[in-house]
Amino acid sequence: MIQKVLIANRGEIALRIIRACRELGIKTLAVYSEADVQSLHVQLADEAICIGGPRGADSYLKADRIIAAAEVADVDAIHPGYGFLSENARFAEQCEKCNIKFIGPKSKSIEMMGNKSVAKETVRKAGVPIVPGSDGPVTSEAEAIKAARKAGYPVIIKAVAGGGGRGMRIAHNDISFAKEFHVASSEAEKAFGNGAVYIEKFIEKPRHIEFQILADSHGHVIHLGERDCSVQRRHQKLIEESPSPFLTPSLRKAMGKAAVRAAEAAAYENAGTIEFLVDAKGNFYFIEMNTRIQVEHPVTEEVTGIDLVKEQIRIANGEKLGYSEAIQKGHAIECRINAEDPARNFAPSPGTIGLYYAPGGLGVRVDSHAYSGYTIPPYYDSMIGKLICFGKDRPTALRRAHRALSEFLVRGIKTTIPLHRAIMSDPIFMEGKATTAYMEDFFARTPPDVFV
Ligand code: ADP
Repeated sequence: MIQKVLIANRGEIALRIIRACRELGIKTLAVYSEADVQSLHVQLADEAICIGGPRGADSYLKADRIIAAAEVADVDAIHPGYGFLSENARFAEQCEKCNIKFIGPKSKSIEMMGNKSVAKETVRKAGVPIVPGSDGPVTSEAEAIKAARKAGYPVIIKAVAGGGGRGMRIAHNDISFAKEFHVASSEAEKAFGNGAVYIEKFIEKPRHIEFQILADSHGHVIHLGERDCSVQRRHQKLIEESPSPFLTPSLRKAMGKAAVRAAEAAAYENAGTIEFLVDAKGNFYFIEMNTRIQVEHPVTEEVTGIDLVKEQIRIANGEKLGYSEAIQKGHAIECRINAEDPARNFAPSPGTIGLYYAPGGLGVRVDSHAYSGYTIPPYYDSMIGKLICFGKDRPTALRRAHRALSEFLVRGIKTTIPLHRAIMSDPIFMEGKATTAYMEDFFARTPPDVFV
C-alpha cells in the first residue's frame, strides 16, 4: 500500500495532490527548484527536497534527481501531476524499474499514446473515428502534398511529438502548404527535438469535447462524462465546462462508448482523457489521448462527486473501481486564471502579488497556489489558479462564475480575470454557441478596455 508520495510538480497541481494524500492519510514529499523556496507546496508537504536551479530543465524535468530524492526519502510512489515529466514514458519506466509506483498509466501506454500518429492508428483499429489525414508521419514535401490533397484543403500540419497547442500550422492550398510544411517541421524539431509532422483535415469551427476515463488494473474502464473545452486561444484552453451545451444524449452515449474503446485499445490504466473534435453536424473525430490528470479535471469532479486524484492513487494501489458508471449532476465551469495581460496581447505579467483574495460561497472552488505577497517566478507557465463554479444548471453556474470573478482580487499583477468576466456575460457564450473559433470572433467585436 502507498504510504508516502513524492510529488514531481509545483503550483496548484502539487497542492491538489497534497490535499488528496492528506485526506487518505498518506505522507507527502515535495521537490522544488531554487525559485520555489517560498511556494505553498513546499510549505504544506510533510517533507521537501530542493532538486536544482530555477529552470524546469534544471529541476522538475531532472528525472534522475527526482528518483534520487524518492530513494533518499523512501517514498513508495511518485505523482507526476501534469506537464513536466507526466507524459514521459522513460521516466515512468525508470520508476517501474526502481520499484517506485508511477501514479499514472504503464510506460507502454504512455509511449503508444504519446506518439500522436501511433495513437490515431491504434484507436482507428478499435473502430473509433479519426480526423482524415496522412497515414502516419510524412517526411518529404511531395508525400506531404499528396496527403494534403487527399484530405482536402484546408489542412492542419501537426507535430507527432506536439503538445500544449504548439507546433500546428494551417494551409489552404498547395502554395501555402509547401511553406508551412517546412516551418512546421523545423519548429517541431526545435520545440520537441523531433521534427516529424503529420497532416490532418482542418475541421472548420469544431467543438473540442473530451471524455474523462478511469481504468483499473483489473480491466475495468469507465468514462465520467465529457468536458467542453472549445474556448481556446492559440489552441490553448481558457475555459472548460461539463456537461457540453452541444451534446445530445445519443451523441454523448456514442462518444462515451468510443472513448472507452480507445482507452481499452491502449491497455490503459489510471486516469486519462480522450479528446475529440466535433463538427457542426455532430460528426466526432479522435484527436489525441492525454495520459495524465488534466488541468480541467475539477469540472468532472464537481459534476460527478468523484475525487479523481484519490482515484488515481487507489488505482495505483491495485484497487478495483468501486462502480460501473459515474452519474453526472448539475453544471460546472472552470476559468483558468493566468498572470497575463489580456488587454496587451496576453503579455506575461510575473511579479509580486500585493493583495490576494479568493472568492467563496456556495458552489465556488478555487485551486491556486497564490497568496498575498507571493512572487510569481518567470520560469514556469503563467497559470496562477483555477476558478471552478458549480450550479444546478448552466445559467446558474455562469452567473455564479461571473459573481465569483467580481470578488476575485489579485493586486499588483495583470490577470485574465477581467477577460473571463466579459466572456461569462457574452451572449454568444451564454447561448452555448462557442466553437474553437469563438475567441477570435470575441476579440474582433470586443474593445480591449472591457477587460482592463
Ligand atoms: P495539443 O496536444 O498541442 O494540445 P491537440 O491535437 O490536442 O494538440 O489540438 C489542440 C487544439 O488544436 C484543438 O482543441 C483544436 O482547437 C485545434 N485542432 C487540432 N487539430 C485540429 C483539426 N484537425 N482541425 C481543426 N482544429 C484542430
